[in-house]
Amino acid sequence: MEKLLQVNNLKKYFNIGRGEILKAVDGVTFHINKGETFGIVGESGCGKSTAGRTIIGLYDRTDGEVVYKGKNIHSMVSKERFAFHRQLQMIFQDPYASLNPRSTVREIISEPMEVHSLYPNKQERLNRVYQLLEDVGLNRDHANRYPHEFSGGQRQRIGIARALALDPEFIIADEPISALDVSVQAQVVNLLKRLQKEKGLTYLFIAHDLSMVKQISDRIGVMYLGQLVELTGSNALYKQPRHPYTQALLSAIPIPDPDIEDKRERIILKGEIPSPINPPSGCVFRNRCPMAMDICGMDKPIWQEVDKDHYVACHLYDKKKTGDHDYSQVAV
Ligand code: SF4
Ligand code: MG
Repeated sequence: MEKLLQVNNLKKYFNIGRGEILKAVDGVTFHINKGETFGIVGESGCGKSTAGRTIIGLYDRTDGEVVYKGKNIHSMVSKERFAFHRQLQMIFQDPYASLNPRSTVREIISEPMEVHSLYPNKQERLNRVYQLLEDVGLNRDHANRYPHEFSGGQRQRIGIARALALDPEFIIADEPISALDVSVQAQVVNLLKRLQKEKGLTYLFIAHDLSMVKQISDRIGVMYLGQLVELTGSNALYKQPRHPYTQALLSAIPIPDPDIEDKRERIILKGEIPSPINPPSGCVFRNRCPMAMDICGMDKPIWQEVDKDHYVACHLYDKKKTGDHDYSQVAV
């Protein structure tokens, strides 16, 4: 498998004044293979959108590195960076807010092509817009209309067409379906899956809803308070979640098959997510964890491989203690 993206110990801190630092992303490490969908899930405020925006370069990183096709993006010169941005596009959560209300659909989809001087011939560019509209299940009659004339699902299709305009390899989809009606969500997920097959796309799919993420992701990382707490293949995560946080998230999802009796006990998490300004010492999840032990307040759990390609940061899986911990993150 070819590695497309490697994120190493990425950190994004915001200085929010009065000497306070908000640690939105606090050291995440993962990779994404070419052609796969990597899902990041977590509650709102866990830093998943910030991670996506930092990877794509909308935010400067505080520390760590993002390597795309073997090239460190932070050391790219401006010409390389421009070409890199063509490869990497983003789909946003709120399709309405991300589309200029005063532009027609044709203008919205053409704009990235203009910026990158693609299809300089007017008719060719228009044909390209028509093709993209068809690719996302709309049609050429939509080209001269304005965003407000469309439903939420259609607007997200326009946002997807715009993201595809530059023929990217990699798309970061930041909660692309959260703002849509449930009935429309599956349609957009199916569209993204079809486009991935047709165009060989790689996705980073960010969401708070584990059930939707499972349908599209090959591997999933679970994020809590700026950190990854578990990472593995999508099936393994659902069959055998290891981290108490993942177990709680999964226990809240109903089993879709009505013939299977749901005997699982729902794990209710106590307390609130702590502030990323003053994260707890030791394990960031400890004030809500039903399994918390003394060590959880003292030592930050190491990121360890508990099964093949199944990583978790939790003291429940510590091997026999043989001296000091190695706190460095294992590259995954
Ligand atoms: Fe819970 Fe401790 Fe594991 Fe953190 S390290 S998830 S507090 S058991
Ligand atoms: Mg978000």
